Amino acid sequence: MTKELERFIRYVEIDTQSDDKSDSTPSAAKELDLSRELVKELGEMGIAATLDEYGRVYAKLEGEKDLPAIGLNSHVDTALEVSGANVKANYIPSYDGGTIKMKDGYSMSPADFPRLANYKGSGLVVTDGTTLLGGDDKAGVAIIMATLDHYVSHPEEKHHTICVLFTPDEEIGRGPEHFDKKKFGADFAYTIDGADPDLVEDENFNAAHADVEFAGVAIHPGEAKGKMVNALRLAAEFDGLLDPSERPELTAGYEGFNHPLQMEGTAEHASLRYLIRNHDAAAFERQKREFVDATKEMNRRYPRAHVKVTIADDYRNMKEVFDRDPRAVKHADEVYEKLGIKARHEPIRGGTDGATFSFLGCPTPNLGTGSYNHHGRFEYLSEKDFETMIGIVIALVRA
Ligand SMILES: [Zn+2]
Repeated sequence: MTKELERFIRYVEIDTQSDDKSDSTPSAAKELDLSRELVKELGEMGIAATLDEYGRVYAKLEGEKDLPAIGLNSHVDTALEVSGANVKANYIPSYDGGTIKMKDGYSMSPADFPRLANYKGSGLVVTDGTTLLGGDDKAGVAIIMATLDHYVSHPEEKHHTICVLFTPDEEIGRGPEHFDKKKFGADFAYTIDGADPDLVEDENFNAAHADVEFAGVAIHPGEAKGKMVNALRLAAEFDGLLDPSERPELTAGYEGFNHPLQMEGTAEHASLRYLIRNHDAAAFERQKREFVDATKEMNRRYPRAHVKVTIADDYRNMKEVFDRDPRAVKHADEVYEKLGIKARHEPIRGGTDGATFSFLGCPTPNLGTGSYNHHGRFEYLSEKDFETMIGIVIALVRA
């Protein structure tokens, strides 16, 4: 097994699942188990690293002074859907292209996951079926560590100054909190938290959420005629006023959606939470206006009820930043081309920590990791794609 892969497996065996019920920073103290390990390993490489009071690891390997400083960041925590405790990574040095048997009757094969067929004859790391793998994003962490290790072991090779940031709590949306641009010190950066090695993700959704409250009029159903206004029916009717084509299950690519995430209520009072998503800023604003219009319409239809909407923005499409400052995307395109890889640009149908970093003055597109099927027991790492990504990131910071 290569040193890079060994390092990856060591990281996934450390439980770092974040906790969405916690208000502390980082949300789970166990996330620091990996952060501290990284500080230690960086120290052993001779790279000064600090773990700050918010659980963020910052490190820097000085390079050529006349070149822009390039940042690399990834997250140490793992997703909440499946346990990240007692991960037993199963390394298959040469995958035979068949069914991979796991514990508890689970298995994975190219019939379920066609992409697996690409990896016949090459190495895979899979779970034992009882946990997730945590390639999201320990593959990103391991790629960054391999890059640093490369330049530390090859002092004769010139490189950009490499600024490193490892964040906790990405999976609960709190990764970009406490971002210290000055401490990071990068002119532009790359988040290593995607999947496919040829994907340069430079667009994400504009995101907001809407909370809609429905106050109805409750009365004994036996004497309700002409009096009752049922809040649950108001909620259903409200949803019917939104564009029926803008739903997650009906959209892809650049198409936006409104997603009812949660509904609670009684006949007297109900509430609905929606996620509002669109890559296009104007369409995004139009969607938000539709919520306001639908609220007005409901209050017009039911003067005895009361419907109220509160809309809050969550994050913005980083494309807006790259249109102003294209250095990071341009640099990636040039390096991929030099390596003979045709970079694909696809919009992320979600968010990325890099979006926040971008709006805070550090343009940060998202690159791949070679790990797939994130957030579940079928997560796997392709050794070939992981090695390709290490090669790409080494080339990205090469002078
Ligand atoms: Zn991730």
